[in-house]
Amino acid sequence: MQNRKTLLTEQEIPDKWYNIVADMPNKPLPPLHPGTREPIGPEALAPLFPMELIKQEVSTDKWIPIPDAVRDIYTMWRPTPLYRAYALEKALDTPAKIYYKYEGVSPAGSHKPNTAVPQAYYNKMEGVKRITTETGAGQWGSALSFACQHFGIECEVYMVKVSYDGKPYRKMMMNTWGAKVYSSPTDHTQSGRQILAQDPNSPGSLGIAISEAVERAATDENTKYALGSVLNHVLMHQTIIGLEAVEQMKKVGDMPDVVVAPFGGGSNFAGISFPFLRLNFDEGRNIRFVASEPASCPKLTRGVFRYDFGDTVGMTPLLPMYTLGHNFVPAPIHAGGLRYHGAGVIVSQLLKDQLIEARAHHQLECFEAGVLFAKTEGIIPAPEASHALATVFAEAQAAKEEGKSRTILFNLCGHGHFDLQAYDDYFNNRLVKHEVTNEDIANSLATLDTPVI
Ligand SMILES: *Cc1c(COP(=O)(O)O)cnc(C)c1O
Repeated sequence: MQNRKTLLTEQEIPDKWYNIVADMPNKPLPPLHPGTREPIGPEALAPLFPMELIKQEVSTDKWIPIPDAVRDIYTMWRPTPLYRAYALEKALDTPAKIYYKYEGVSPAGSHKPNTAVPQAYYNKMEGVKRITTETGAGQWGSALSFACQHFGIECEVYMVKVSYDGKPYRKMMMNTWGAKVYSSPTDHTQSGRQILAQDPNSPGSLGIAISEAVERAATDENTKYALGSVLNHVLMHQTIIGLEAVEQMKKVGDMPDVVVAPFGGGSNFAGISFPFLRLNFDEGRNIRFVASEPASCPKLTRGVFRYDFGDTVGMTPLLPMYTLGHNFVPAPIHAGGLRYHGAGVIVSQLLKDQLIEARAHHQLECFEAGVLFAKTEGIIPAPEASHALATVFAEAQAAKEEGKSRTILFNLCGHGHFDLQAYDDYFNNRLVKHEVTNEDIANSLATLDTPVI
């Protein structure tokens, strides 16, 4: 039976992911070795990732089959609903039609399990016993914990110390799914010990946690590493969101004029956008795409396009991307998932080629939009998702000023049930209208000695 909100049956869950690389007018530039700065091939990634994911990372095939075992697990929460936000439209008094795809119905409460599950699956197929990863606020760590326990793989999560201490519920979630969660920096990796020797009270950082997780995988042959955003294969797994949404929009007899999503490393933005961008490529449509980022970490709107490291320490390959510099430390805004200095290689190239747009919002504007959304549509958005809402509000306002309708689709990539402290801080005026200064950006970029493109 067709579900009233999902509009699709389980049989209609897509059986292939869309690989946009096949259709890109300018293909992504190659990653460079961090030491020699020469282009690296896929074999350089073999200590960290299973072969099948490495193949996907460099694939130029347009469609990649989704294994049945993965689709089976997807049915636990997919297809996800597509809603029309009638109450919000009314509150905004706009002629625009607003639709949203809701990914918060997954076990972890966000889009992240869409890639955690296939990543765990391919590791399992290749006999991997343990997967390590880092997590900031805990969204990715909880998604991977869920996926690993499903396939009987041990999961080891390096959680940034300040979050470990300050956001205990995500940690408990990971423990419930059987993961080991460590407060990073730890004393059981060399990277961690090195940091602790310099500063025994280090609050940790995502950069340090990545170094610890990567070191564990690189030094144990039964252990691999997993990343929750940025990489090509991660973005591709997330296209399940947009592939469903294209079918759902067709079922309601509509098509978006503009697609909007929040932007951290680019995975949920790519997920909802790329299948619609394919329609621009294949059917000559004219759909717009807007990535919403925080004014505190505006790499797409105010960063530079050049080679940079993915981590703070400088251990990862150099990637061609929009970046604020790997030494950039974003202000501690609540949208933890958007506090990343760089961006995925594919989305960066698309932005450079003006096939997508970007827009920055400060956090008060986002919370204001998030609260109105919760009041009208009922769902409390993750602080990350509220950035998309700020863009949606601007698009709806523009439609009103033009006196014309416009169809907006956005990705409600997660709920905010573990982020209520952020809402409390907003209600009690503890949040400021923060925007990074030109000087901060210039100072960070001045420290880069990585290749210019
Ligand atoms: C991780 C996360 C993000 C940011 O990551 P992307 O790869 O840019 O999607 C945004 N929203 C939520 C809810 C997240 O968990």
